[in-house]
Amino acid sequence: MITRLRLECPARQRYLFFMISTRMPSEHTYEAILHRDPALDGVVFSGVKTTGIYCRPVCKARVPFRKNIALYPSAAAAEAAGFRPCLRCRPETAPFCPAWKGTKTTVERALGLIRSGALESGSVQQLADRLGIGARHLSRLFAEHIGASPKQLAQTLRIQKAKRLIDQTDETLDNIASQSGFGSARRMRATFVALYGRPPSSIRNMRRRKTSTSAKSIHPNIAFQNEGSIA
Ligand SMILES: [Zn+2]
Repeated sequence: MITRLRLECPARQRYLFFMISTRMPSEHTYEAILHRDPALDGVVFSGVKTTGIYCRPVCKARVPFRKNIALYPSAAAAEAAGFRPCLRCRPETAPFCPAWKGTKTTVERALGLIRSGALESGSVQQLADRLGIGARHLSRLFAEHIGASPKQLAQTLRIQKAKRLIDQTDETLDNIASQSGFGSARRMRATFVALYGRPPSSIRNMRRRKTSTSAKSIHPNIAFQNEGSIA
């Protein structure tokens, strides 16, 4: 696993070893987080144990003590560990490491299929069949490369899409629920409450209150970069 990831993404290479051995950042990485080093953006996600929130390394919020940080390789992994996305830096919209993204792997094909709804209409087994591998092997690849299961990833994608539509459109919540693959507005609401601690309507109201300024100016390129990307 280490070898494969090294080939795929030089940025991951530097941070992978300690992520396997411990989730706490090394002093070197912590230093980079303190300086909000953009090289880490999309490569690691910091779960803050004291708040239960996870952030991008470039978040403008105060950096917690090193011992209170747990690093994850993807937004889906941080969410699978029970962290909620920060409403300020929006880690669930951070781009994947581009080099990693560029490799043509089974995982990437699986991501493409999941992104186009393979798990809305079918099972993980059916997805694995389409890829010509066993469902177990697929789950193992996901655990290695994404740090989350295919189902968790599909859930994260649904949430991302819904969140984007809530933030960027005036579609009704019913429409947003069906467009993003939730069976119903009620299910979308339950998922948002579990993840963000608040319902979609409240997130939309927050957006309306600060429409014009800060939130968008922090990472102006993200909405664009994120079109079609996964984490
Ligand atoms: Zn943040």
